[in-house]
Amino acid sequence: MKNDRRLTNQIDYLFGKELTQVPYVPYSENWTHDHCAFCSETIDETEKDAYCTEDRYHWICKDCFNDFKEMFNWKITEQK
Ligand SMILES: [Zn+2]
Repeated sequence: MKNDRRLTNQIDYLFGKELTQVPYVPYSENWTHDHCAFCSETIDETEKDAYCTEDRYHWICKDCFNDFKEMFNWKITEQK
C-alpha cells in the first residue's frame, strides 16, 4: 500500500483529519462536482457514500476511504 499510485502528498493535508460521510455538497455554488483526493474519481450529487473533511473541501470516495483509513488515522464524525 505504501507504493500505491493514488498516493501523492495527501498525507500532508489529510492525515488524522475528521471526516464525515455525507451526500455530496459542492464547496462553492459554482461547482457541480469534485474529485476524490486519491483516485480522482468524480464525486457529484449522485454520490451518497463519499467522505469529506469538515470544511467540505476535500472529498474521498468510499473505496479510497476503506483502502487508506488505517494509514491516515481518520476520525469519523457524525453528520451535523
Ligand atoms: Zn477514490
